[in-house]
Amino acid sequence: MNFPQITLLPGREKSLLRCHPWVFSGAVGGISGDPASGEVCRVADARGNFLAWASYSAASQITARVWSFQENSVIDANFFQQRVNAAKTLRDRLGVGDLSTGCRLIYSESDQLPGVIADRYGEYIALQLLSSGAEFFRNEIIDALMKLPGIKGVYERSDVSVRKREALPERSGIARGEMPPDEIVIRENQLSFAVDPVHGQKTGFYFDLREVRQKVRQLAAGKKVLNDFCYTGGFAVAALAGGAQSVLNIDSSRPALAQAVRNLKLNALPQENCEFRAADGFEELNHLRDAHEKFDFVILDPPKLIDAKSHLERGCRAYSHLAKRGFELLNPGGILLNLSCSGLMTPELFQKITFDAAREARCDAVIIDSVRQSADHPVILSTPETFYLKGLISVKR
Ligand code: SAH
Repeated sequence: MNFPQITLLPGREKSLLRCHPWVFSGAVGGISGDPASGEVCRVADARGNFLAWASYSAASQITARVWSFQENSVIDANFFQQRVNAAKTLRDRLGVGDLSTGCRLIYSESDQLPGVIADRYGEYIALQLLSSGAEFFRNEIIDALMKLPGIKGVYERSDVSVRKREALPERSGIARGEMPPDEIVIRENQLSFAVDPVHGQKTGFYFDLREVRQKVRQLAAGKKVLNDFCYTGGFAVAALAGGAQSVLNIDSSRPALAQAVRNLKLNALPQENCEFRAADGFEELNHLRDAHEKFDFVILDPPKLIDAKSHLERGCRAYSHLAKRGFELLNPGGILLNLSCSGLMTPELFQKITFDAAREARCDAVIIDSVRQSADHPVILSTPETFYLKGLISVKR
């Protein structure tokens, strides 16, 4: 069979030879065979040598995303079943299933399925297809997921704005099998969390914070906690389970706060010392500081504040401002956990920002630990962009 071909400009094959799976538009010398969006193309160097099989995207800056670097690969239903099975096997090896009844089952490039995100909630999977290639093979991917043992339904949550970059419309709804119930209770490290994969943010729950929740639990005993950008209260549950004295939870989303209350109840945790405040997470820190409030443990987990290089400086200022307020709100000896889920924020830069923030808050602090995305969001060595979530745990002196 003759495949359309994407031929790179001379010398532009280096990243593909190192198995980085993105073909940027600037590296493309020519496209032959008039591929449809999502169709598999042969990617070749300027001399015509095979480099990869990749799905074409007409609209994106990333002209193609690689499925396989092996010339004898056939990108078909069997290929997707194998990749999905491999992703499942990795999660099994990690023992995620022992810790939790939910996990990120497929993490895009890291599972060699660019543009595919699948989160497992018990017997249901919430799926996001983010690239033209993933969209093109939608049926094959859903079939493969449905064949995993114990899966009753796949619900699609491709209702994210990044699809615009690929000229794909947003889509959500049941894709195959049974509709998930409004509430699925997952267990994680002996705690329960109610998740609504149909209406919740992203696909409903932040599995990437699983290991961070454990750290919060270990550090929280006896502490007065501020949990800013709390979403459905994952850190509140963890902190109270770890013996926190009180937790003030702030988020702009009322449905998320309602779910947070529900999560405390599910775990039979005391709510009398918990407050849930629907407010702007930046503004509220100013108010708390003006009111001279103090805490022993401040958690700052804002949404992604940098989504393009052009926003780097503005984003850094926002992270810095948050950390500054965090330090100001701490009692001496108090703990700051500040997080960034912006891939463009490097750990080094984040540490520098945190240091500058401490200076601006006129305090001294030591870093006692760092956190990252949990193991079911692995970082594939070829693609450093798959590392995005980082955080620092500092003690104010
Ligand atoms: N810490 C959470 C995850 C945070 S995700 C957890 O443990 O699961 C980021 C959260 O920030 C979302 O819940 C979103 O509703 C909230 N958010 C976004 N912008 C906000 C703002 N300006 N003020 C307060 N909350 C905001």
